[in-house]
Amino acid sequence: MKMSGLFSRKGTQNIVELMRCNMALNKKLVADPKWCKGCGIRVALCPKDVLAITKEKVVISNPDNCIKCGLCELRCPDYAIWLEEVE
Ligand code: SF4
Repeated sequence: MKMSGLFSRKGTQNIVELMRCNMALNKKLVADPKWCKGCGIRVALCPKDVLAITKEKVVISNPDNCIKCGLCELRCPDYAIWLEEVE
């Protein structure tokens, strides 16, 4: 592998994503519909089609597909979804 590939923007994004996934392995996805205004940002951003909007609220429709990348938590403007530590 060329060194320049390691330090490119895409290379950095891949490393950060891997770190986030590893850190999130002992976490579970939680959504609180009462905070959700149904904007759909999280549904559009999720790379694994885990989320859906039902009755104008986010629902975790496909939890087994979640890779715990944290994109939904990071981008939700209403803090209505998050990864929670599992004991
Ligand atoms: S953590 Fe990632 S894969 Fe899981 S629901 Fe959120 S955006 Fe989708």
